[in-house]
Amino acid sequence: MPDIRGRFAPSPSGPLHLGSLLAAVGSYLTARSAGGQWLLRIEDLDPPRVAPGAGDAILRALEAHGLLWDDEPLYQSRRGDAYRAAMAQLQASGLVYPCACTRRELATIAHAGVDGPVYPGTCRDGLGTGRAPRALRIRVADQEFGLVDIVQGDYRHTLPQAVGDFVVQRADGLIAYQLAVVVDDADQGITQVVRGIDLLSSTPRQIYLQRCLGLPTPSYAHLPLLVDRHGAKLGKQTGAAGLDPKRASANLSLVLQALRHAPPAELYGAAPTTLLRWATQHWQVGRLAGRAEVVVP
Ligand code: GLU
Repeated sequence: MPDIRGRFAPSPSGPLHLGSLLAAVGSYLTARSAGGQWLLRIEDLDPPRVAPGAGDAILRALEAHGLLWDDEPLYQSRRGDAYRAAMAQLQASGLVYPCACTRRELATIAHAGVDGPVYPGTCRDGLGTGRAPRALRIRVADQEFGLVDIVQGDYRHTLPQAVGDFVVQRADGLIAYQLAVVVDDADQGITQVVRGIDLLSSTPRQIYLQRCLGLPTPSYAHLPLLVDRHGAKLGKQTGAAGLDPKRASANLSLVLQALRHAPPAELYGAAPTTLLRWATQHWQVGRLAGRAEVVVP
């Protein structure tokens, strides 16, 4: 395996849009500029959130933008065995327990943390009488977990205060995103995670799971969010349109400008591969240091 392996891990809940292109380009350039590989993972873990055909559409859109990946893409929907093995390992370590609480119950008793209500530990010492198990949670250690993010700098929190014991297997039986990502990054040999800043608050949980499972911790770079001139996020939720592959060169130029790597005037209208070659030679992720948002030009 080469030293550096980056990845792009889109959720196929819709087509590739400008915000997700930014994450794709940022992770691609960070890996390629260091002579590394760039892998793909389709995060189709949650069937109700998968839009039919979106996974293939994302692959075609990446190709149209010259973003060619190494190896076969990994599909989370085919990873049940790997997730079950990781769950078994966590259960054997005695860290996992069943929880009967519903979202509604927790919303009324828990205070807000970095990512929703902080679990107050209601079922930590066993289920109350007549209470049926729903999700499985992992006991968190009462210590600080964090990282020095390549873009955002120092980020850390104490898990019991910021999130509490968190869900590793959902009430519907599906493995939780936090655990799936950790297992997948390790199996894909990922050494470098470059993704959107919205996932920064998940990272201490993921590092905790890596420790519990004896897995290596990659480096992390959380890219700023792409916003419009009014400060609104450009994402699926706000109905950002799928990208037109015929405008691939213009789309790449926009994203490179937003990432503070505006291509020189003579490359105006150049083919995607030409733009990416230039950007790979000039890429310095440090130009984004400390930025939580960048504005689409
Ligand atoms: N699938 C997640 C998303 O599309 C990204 C997960 C990750 O990069 O760790 O937001």
